[in-house]
Amino acid sequence: MKLPYIEPYKIKMVEAINQSTIAQRKVWMKKAKYNLFKLSSDQVIIDLLTDSGTGAMSDKQWAEIMLGDESYAGSKSFEKLETTVKKITGFEYFIPTHQGRAAENVLFSALVKEGNLIPGNSHFDTTKGHIEFRKAHAIDCTIDAAFDTTIEHPFKGNIDLQKLEHVFQSNEINTIPFVLITITCNSAGGQPVSMQNIHDVSVLCKQYNVPLYFDSARFAENAYFIKTREKGYENISIKDIVKELFSFGDGMTMSAKKDGIVNMGGFIALKSQKVYKACVTYNIMYEGFVTYGGMSGRDMGALAEGLKESTEFTYLESRINQVRYLGKRLVEFGVPVQQPFGGHAIYLDANKFVANIAQEEYRAQSLAIELYITAGIRSVEIGTILADRDPITRDNRYPKLELVRLAIPRRTYTLSHIEYIAIAIKNVFETRNEAKRGYDITWEAPIMRHFTVELEKLS
Ligand SMILES: *Cc1c(COP(=O)(O)O)cnc(C)c1O
Repeated sequence: MKLPYIEPYKIKMVEAINQSTIAQRKVWMKKAKYNLFKLSSDQVIIDLLTDSGTGAMSDKQWAEIMLGDESYAGSKSFEKLETTVKKITGFEYFIPTHQGRAAENVLFSALVKEGNLIPGNSHFDTTKGHIEFRKAHAIDCTIDAAFDTTIEHPFKGNIDLQKLEHVFQSNEINTIPFVLITITCNSAGGQPVSMQNIHDVSVLCKQYNVPLYFDSARFAENAYFIKTREKGYENISIKDIVKELFSFGDGMTMSAKKDGIVNMGGFIALKSQKVYKACVTYNIMYEGFVTYGGMSGRDMGALAEGLKESTEFTYLESRINQVRYLGKRLVEFGVPVQQPFGGHAIYLDANKFVANIAQEEYRAQSLAIELYITAGIRSVEIGTILADRDPITRDNRYPKLELVRLAIPRRTYTLSHIEYIAIAIKNVFETRNEAKRGYDITWEAPIMRHFTVELEKLS
């Protein structure tokens, strides 16, 4: 018999999960005004709110915490991280920042001007925020297949070359400071971009003399998908795929809370000394001196080790297998989920799951609340509440998709936790027709309402 697959690590330290009952969770949920962000973590059994900064560090990373050099300038931990980033990405210049959006703030301060256009594949929300804050525009050039959940496509994060060339041709080329490829493409559900597509985009960019940057939060997961799905890469190591992929670009921003497997951190890596010098000034203003940029020495050491580990095939295989296992179990139970499964999360399709609750009564949020009350699982709504109101008319914007995201933290939960999640969702699915009413908003902030919104249950 073939030996079963196992996680490539064992557990050295554990953190207790606070168990609770349905009755307790009903009270807590009501007190939290039916907003899952307002729950305290000990009211949660399994936390799938985000995969950002929620992963488990290895013994080697914890060892780096003890070795941290906290010198203001010229820290050894900085040198360790710089060497690792250069080795893994191939970029010549490196700047640490406290997290991903800080890297965006610094790089965009150097490169983005009012009225600029930044084409890419469904920009991440903080990225878009930093572009629009500078009165520039993010242009989505993702392939159409990405928006059709019924289409099976191995690389739904790909950029449509015709759309991109159209942007190049119909605008002053010097209003386009760079093209930004997000790997994996978060907004499209953790969908990867193929090496072929990255190559083709870089050729087009060179033809028009436009630099190419990567928003690289999940670059290692993207490399895993290239290795397992793209012809010709089966026998290439993840580290070599990563090197090749970045060789097509001029630089990158990184949220190390994702594929750095640390709780806090980020960086910028660059090819051009000129851009590096411009960024250094902003980094010193916004983040800290160039040899720490908002991070402690110990955190830089842990990140250096985390980058080495996240680019190991065995780690990635176990990570993506876990996400895929959850997706497969749900499909077996007939639960409507988005396909193909992304690298870091599974998305429940609330339009199909709870079609009997009106969209005006926030059906995806209703499903997320039900899942919490039933089993203590915290997920996040990606639907009407997140889509917010139209800034002019103040009407609710109703998105085509109403999703509940189950983001899986790295190395944090075991297969029995995943099985618990699958069974809990199956149980909610089986009683889905009992719920007829959703929720109403009683209070909301004028912008980014999902974090603080307050709701009441309709009956
Ligand atoms: C998380 C993320 C960011 C922002 O990074 P933070 O560390 O949360 O500031 C930017 N882009 C992508 C694709 C991300 O996933």
